[in-house]
Amino acid sequence: MRALVTGGTRGIGLAVCRLLSERGEKVTALYSSDEAAAERARQLLPAVEFLRADVSNEEAVKKVFTRFSSLDHLVNNAGIPLYAQVQDTTLSAWERVMAVNAGGTFLCCKHAVKKMLGRGGTIVNISSVWGEEGGSCESAYSASKGAVIAFTKALARELAPAGITVNCVTPGVIDTAMNGHLSEEEKRALAEEIPLGRFGTPEEVARAVLFLLDNSYVTGQVLGVNGGF
Ligand code: NAD
Repeated sequence: MRALVTGGTRGIGLAVCRLLSERGEKVTALYSSDEAAAERARQLLPAVEFLRADVSNEEAVKKVFTRFSSLDHLVNNAGIPLYAQVQDTTLSAWERVMAVNAGGTFLCCKHAVKKMLGRGGTIVNISSVWGEEGGSCESAYSASKGAVIAFTKALARELAPAGITVNCVTPGVIDTAMNGHLSEEEKRALAEEIPLGRFGTPEEVARAVLFLLDNSYVTGQVLGVNGGF
């Protein structure tokens, strides 16, 4: 099996790469700019190919796809946060979060589908609980993740006749670098709001991704991995 995971050097993406690689899939993973994380990931998972490519840049995405003659699994996980009140959000910050989170998902799907047509495949997009519920002071991020959910549902219908499934995972609060800005006190307060009483782990999200990659009769679904949040 051939797999592409975007944002594979850290957090949730790294956990997905590890589980796929452990079961023998040939995995390529993309990252943006954190070379230290990429180096750690290369040491940890030597069988995985880690490439620096910005998913919001179509030329860069196209170049990545020239490496594949076929593709079985695509996981659109690359994402960036944006914490700001709406009146403080610049147009360029809005455009960047949309370009990476929603645009990157679109571009990778667009080019992956060309490799899947005629043989089938499975796509999992990583959205967020904020894409379903909306997060205060994260309206641009929430909008970008809501776009991922709508795109997933539409694409699932479009690609079903080709035997390609498209699903979405919506993580709640997961213990990754993306939440590194929170103080210990903020983390405790947030954990208290989660029915299961703690943040999720990257591996718990990765296991949900693998479930969706493996089930050929589930498509167009949004699977929450959020501790009951
Ligand atoms: P992270 O910040 O630890 O890792 C992000 C990864 O994406 C890195 O490998 C980074 O290099 C890559 N990336 C970022 N911009 C990119 C770009 N333009 N092109 C290519 N790669 C790029 O993030 P994480 O916490 O593991 O989150 C992974 C995904 O899950 C994101 O889409 C995020 O929005 C979503 N999510 C995370 C949480 C959470 O609590 N951590 C909650 C809900 C959703």
